[in-house]
Amino acid sequence: MGSYMKRERKSKRKKKTCDVRGCDEKKKKSVPIGKAKNKADLDVDADGTSAYLCKKHWKEFKKATKKEREMRRLSWD
Ligand SMILES: [Zn+2]
Repeated sequence: MGSYMKRERKSKRKKKTCDVRGCDEKKKKSVPIGKAKNKADLDVDADGTSAYLCKKHWKEFKKATKKEREMRRLSWD
């Protein structure tokens, strides 16, 4: 009894976890997929335009995009 609880249907669309490959943390924020891949260098596995990130990967994403923003600002000033 109870073992079937662990076998949740593998529905990509309804999952509540981070979209980074191999990550099983709870999702926290959605970000544009292109940015997550190219700017933050995250290995996201998602369809559509946005990917869900957990807290940890969201931090990584923020760090990566912040760096880029700062660099851009520096070069524009
Ligand atoms: Zn994650």
